[in-house]
Amino acid sequence: MLTNTHNHTCHFSPDAHTTIDEFIENAVRLGIKVAAITEHYEYDNPDPDDNIQTFDIKEYEKEFRKWKKKCPKELELLMGIEFGYQTHTASDIDRIASTAPFDIVLLSNHLFRGVDVFYSKEVYKLPVKQRHAEYVTKLSEMVENCNNFDVAAHYDYVNKCNKEPGVNMLYQDCPKEFDRFFEALIAKEKALEINTSTSARINQMPDPEVIKRYLAMGGRLITLSSDSHVKENIGLLIPEMREFLISLGVKEICWFKDRKVVTAGL
Ligand SMILES: [Zn+2]
Ligand SMILES: [Zn+2]
Repeated sequence: MLTNTHNHTCHFSPDAHTTIDEFIENAVRLGIKVAAITEHYEYDNPDPDDNIQTFDIKEYEKEFRKWKKKCPKELELLMGIEFGYQTHTASDIDRIASTAPFDIVLLSNHLFRGVDVFYSKEVYKLPVKQRHAEYVTKLSEMVENCNNFDVAAHYDYVNKCNKEPGVNMLYQDCPKEFDRFFEALIAKEKALEINTSTSARINQMPDPEVIKRYLAMGGRLITLSSDSHVKENIGLLIPEMREFLISLGVKEICWFKDRKVVTAGL
């Protein structure tokens, strides 16, 4: 079953170009059965030049009701949001996540030492293992400090803008840090997102050992997404990643509807 639980539109995410009509049309054509729109919400954004900030949630809720009406039955459209985490915004995120009837709430860490990885001049100067350990430690803190969310998004975001050829984010880079992250996710019954956008950009699938370790520790909730910002990326590597997950022994995929987990056979 094809699902995609993390996508942006141009209506509320300033860095996205897809209209909702393009989104629906393409998702249906690709045979995606469940898809979430998860617009960026960077509360107290530290970077004034960064245009990804916040939006009017009530307006989004209103618009989404119209989107849902025009969506054909073969596609289940979910109303989501993607919060950008910072240590001091944990309680604000928990609060804001309750202000609208979201189906699915993603929690992301886009920052490395206070700067989005996308703009950071520092991150790729650090040794690979050090940068990965530091980023995954922050993910653990994010999951430990927040409660009102469903999914920890793109655990490999730190490697997304890496131009060094061949570098992947390996479990062996920081096993202790990955274990702490997975332990927190599993204890809180939150889902691990496998996001195809980094894989597509670095031209490598995720390290199988990351997913195997999550499963071995008792992790059951995996959600799959392409994090699309343009219509061409709605189905990006989704069928291939589904096959890859099956090959690693993943049996079920999940999403969230009305903030409750739903699982289906992969
Ligand atoms: Zn993100
Ligand atoms: Zn995103």
